[in-house]
Amino acid sequence: MDCEDVRTYLLDDHRGQLAPELAREVRAHVERCAACAHDDAAEHALSELLERRLPQHPAPLALKRRLAAQWPAPGAAPAPWWPRWRRAVAPALAAALVLAVAAPWLTGRLPASGRGDGAQALVAEAVNDHLRVLLSEHPLEVESGGIHQVKPWFAGRLDFAPVVPFGGDVEFPLKGGAVGWFVDRKAAVLVYQRRLHPISLFVFRADGLPWPARGGERIGGVDAYRQTARGFTVVLWRTGDLGYALVSDLDPKELATFASKLVG
Ligand SMILES: [Zn+2]
Repeated sequence: MDCEDVRTYLLDDHRGQLAPELAREVRAHVERCAACAHDDAAEHALSELLERRLPQHPAPLALKRRLAAQWPAPGAAPAPWWPRWRRAVAPALAAALVLAVAAPWLTGRLPASGRGDGAQALVAEAVNDHLRVLLSEHPLEVESGGIHQVKPWFAGRLDFAPVVPFGGDVEFPLKGGAVGWFVDRKAAVLVYQRRLHPISLFVFRADGLPWPARGGERIGGVDAYRQTARGFTVVLWRTGDLGYALVSDLDPKELATFASKLVG
């Protein structure tokens, strides 16, 4: 059974609809395959969200409108920002995550490097990972007292050293970090904030991913790729062996300003 088979069966497995022997094969694969374990966890999170937060038989458009109306008004909500923010936007985020299920990476059809334009897959992955951070009860495994506290925390938790040239400032304070995933590999997750907008930065090994070949723009000293998807702006770039994905619902221009600080 390969990864593609497993991902076809994951949903049925969660619904308990697989024959016992098939279910055992799927579980056995998930236990030894990090990429499928990642998707398995995403499916679990999604199922849980759907059961907890969304009506049983939603009319998609009406639902989306109602959820969109629950996004907080700009300038609302004082500190503590995270729990309030999360509570306010969780239903809308859940809806966004539902839409994300149709994304190709979840079904395992991530295009290989050099074949076609992989940008869509990377953008979808970045948005999904950002949503997962936002929906998490405790997104930060290390709270920030500054980059000098967060950086050493990653040592021994990743198989690479994340290079983060910008440790936050008054405009874009660093809130903290965590270890997460990007596609099939571990990632350093750093969460910054601009006013009420959380910003996720994912740093990971760049090799073997379908990096976009065109559509780039120059940000700081690097070729970056910027795209807006489902209300979030994603900026992707590579520096040396490392890949970077920046995601936020922040105004795209402000996010580009932030990206230029990160690139250095
Ligand atoms: Zn697999």
